[in-house]
Amino acid sequence: MNSSNPRVPWYTPVGEIQIEHKQNGKPNTGKVLAAVQAHADDIPFFCAGMIAKLVDEGYTAYLIQTTNDEKCGPTSSIGDTIRRNEEDIDVLAKNLGFQKVIHLGYRNHFLDEASPTEIRARLVYLIRALKIDTITTFNPWGHWEENPDHYITGQAVEAARWMAGMDKDYPEHPICGLSPHTVSELYYWTMRPGQPYNTVVDIEPYLEEKIAAMSANKSQGPAGARGRRLKEKLKLQGKRLPELGDDDETADREFLRLFGLNEYKKIGEPYGLKYAEHFYYIPPGGTFTGSLMMSDIDVEKYIAEHAVDLNS
Ligand SMILES: [Zn+2]
Repeated sequence: MNSSNPRVPWYTPVGEIQIEHKQNGKPNTGKVLAAVQAHADDIPFFCAGMIAKLVDEGYTAYLIQTTNDEKCGPTSSIGDTIRRNEEDIDVLAKNLGFQKVIHLGYRNHFLDEASPTEIRARLVYLIRALKIDTITTFNPWGHWEENPDHYITGQAVEAARWMAGMDKDYPEHPICGLSPHTVSELYYWTMRPGQPYNTVVDIEPYLEEKIAAMSANKSQGPAGARGRRLKEKLKLQGKRLPELGDDDETADREFLRLFGLNEYKKIGEPYGLKYAEHFYYIPPGGTFTGSLMMSDIDVEKYIAEHAVDLNS
C-alpha cells in the first residue's frame, strides 16, 4: 500500500515486473512510436519520461490527440480555450521531440458521442500511413476510469492496432498506397488506483524532459503555471523562494521539481529507482497467452508419434 489514503488502493503489480533503463546506441532507430492522448495534460502526467527515453533511443514519434480540449482552460471562451491548449501541445511536442501533432478534433468530454468505427478507421489510416510500430495510450479496460474520453480513446486504439494489419479491412487503402501494418507493442498507462502494471521505466535520466512536458500545460490541469503564480503571490507579501529563480518559466519548472514529482518517486521506490513511470506492456502478438496458440512444432511432434499408414 503506497497510497496516502488507506481506503484507496495503490496500483497493482502483475507478474514479473520488467524494469526498463536508458539504452545507449540508438537501438530503436527506424521504429515509429505514437502517443495517443485525449487531452493536453495526459502525456505529460503518464508517459512523458518514457517518450523522451524512446525518442532518445531512436524512435520517430507522433502525437495523436482525440479531443479538442474545449472544456479545460482559464478563460470562459471555448474558442480561446481550444487555441490555448493547441499552443500548449505544440510546446509539449517540441519539448519531447515529437515529429508532428495530429488533432482528431472530437469534442472534449463527449468522445462517447462520436462513432467508434469512425475513430477506429482514422486510427487505422494513421497506423498504416505512418507505419506505427509502438503505441502508448490509456488502458481501455482499466478500473475506476471516470472520463469517457480516456476509455473511448483506449478502446479505439486497442481495436485499430491489430485491425490495421488485416488485408480485408479497409480495402480502399491500398488504392491510396497504404499497406496493412500491425502495431506490435503497446504501453498502456497506469493511472487510477488498482490499475495493473508489469513494466517500470526508469525516467531519472529524462527528468528535465518530464518536467518540461508537465510545464507545457499552462492552460489546464494542476501543473504548468503554478510556479509563476506562487512567485507573484509571494512578491505581494514581500517574500520570495530563491529556488523559483528569476523568470516565469524557471519558476514553473522548479515548482514542479519541488512539488510535482512525488508520485513518480513513489512509483520508483519499490524498484530502487529515484523517479519512474509504470505501464501495462503488451508484447508483439497481442493479449493472447502463448498457450492458446498451437505451435507447428507441437503438431509435427504429435504426427511423428501417432500417425499410422493409410492402409493400416
Ligand atoms: Zn485526460
